[in-house]
Amino acid sequence: MSDDQAERPSSADRGFDFKTRLDDREERGLRRDLTPIESVRERSRYAEDPGADQPVFGKQPEMVVFGSNNYLGLATDERVQRAAGDAAHSIGTGAGASRLVTGDTPVHRALERDLAEAKGTERALVFSSGYAANVGTITALDPDVVFSDAYNHASIIDGCRLSDAETVVYDHCDATALSEAMADRAPKSSDESWLVVTDSVFSMDGDVAPLSAVCDAAERYGAWVMVDEAHATGVFEDGGGIVQREGLTERVDVQLGTLSKALAAQGGFVAASEPVVEHLSNVARSFVFSTGLSPPAAGAARTALSIARNGSRRTQLWDNVERLRTGLESLGLDVMGTTHILPVVVGDRSEAVELATHLTEAGIIAPAIRPPTVPDGQSRIRLAPMATHTERDIEQCVTAFERAEGKR
Ligand code: PMP
Repeated sequence: MSDDQAERPSSADRGFDFKTRLDDREERGLRRDLTPIESVRERSRYAEDPGADQPVFGKQPEMVVFGSNNYLGLATDERVQRAAGDAAHSIGTGAGASRLVTGDTPVHRALERDLAEAKGTERALVFSSGYAANVGTITALDPDVVFSDAYNHASIIDGCRLSDAETVVYDHCDATALSEAMADRAPKSSDESWLVVTDSVFSMDGDVAPLSAVCDAAERYGAWVMVDEAHATGVFEDGGGIVQREGLTERVDVQLGTLSKALAAQGGFVAASEPVVEHLSNVARSFVFSTGLSPPAAGAARTALSIARNGSRRTQLWDNVERLRTGLESLGLDVMGTTHILPVVVGDRSEAVELATHLTEAGIIAPAIRPPTVPDGQSRIRLAPMATHTERDIEQCVTAFERAEGKR
């Protein structure tokens, strides 16, 4: 080692002291650990022990997951699994290249046709994740000004940051605040492009953006509307999202979503008009410079979408949502949201973690959601019932809350 190298300051002294930063997170109750889950199988232990008629508390051989976005339980559906395998066999396990080079395969095209049909648009385009779809789409639309709901997903926020747009954040789910923000921000030129972007279902609050009023405001000011239906796709009207449920297909310019939640695969998509999709496939950097979606994910998503559109899984999901909400409310718990996502507000972040630990001991996996994901003082347990939960699973969850509340 030369004398020069010996004198170099340590990495910690040069701003890379991540150990101290992690310790600081730990102290503030913000440290997160990866939690290994053996399988995404949603069945409770009753599936293995049909004779048991009483929940057994303590360490469970199989946990019931209430913290997954696999809302329709299709990630373990044999038809979906087979479709993934078939695509791997017939096309390959990977696309092998960007779609614009040699990675554009029949399963990508077929999935995009299916998505466009489900969303009522001319075209759709799939990305390697919903995150990539948001970042790539917002930057490629290249708006001058973005009006963004205060609780929008991180990938929307990052898309706004990466674009050169001026970003105006309006109060959560408040179309009046949006209108006022637009009125305050007078256009600087007649050809300035304005984009309003909002999640439809908000993942941590389980509430829904007032999309019709958002469209009214946007139309008044000549803005485009982009809606992220990550948590809604597959779950609402005809296996579509809130845009379909509210009949807003013609008024929303860009519908975005993910294949990784109800559609049980991986990847993201945009559904829009022909020129928008053609523009994105030429310009969105996360599409152009990234390998095409893996064929098994595309195959799985196609089959999951067709099952979601067929309806019975959705009915099971909504029955379970109702059952769980009623059970929790009967315990006097404060259950937020108006959708299939049921957050139970705790407030203090350590108490939320403690509650999650009690639930785990009772065989229920439902993670505590803390800042910065939610505002300080609003830590919560986010419950996501699934179509494949049994009545007993729901009962076990409610009983686990009852017992955990008794311990707090
Ligand atoms: N948008 C929203 C609203 C999301 O909740 C998520 C994922 N949690 C994404 C986009 C990103 O999707 P993906 O996981 O496919 O990257």
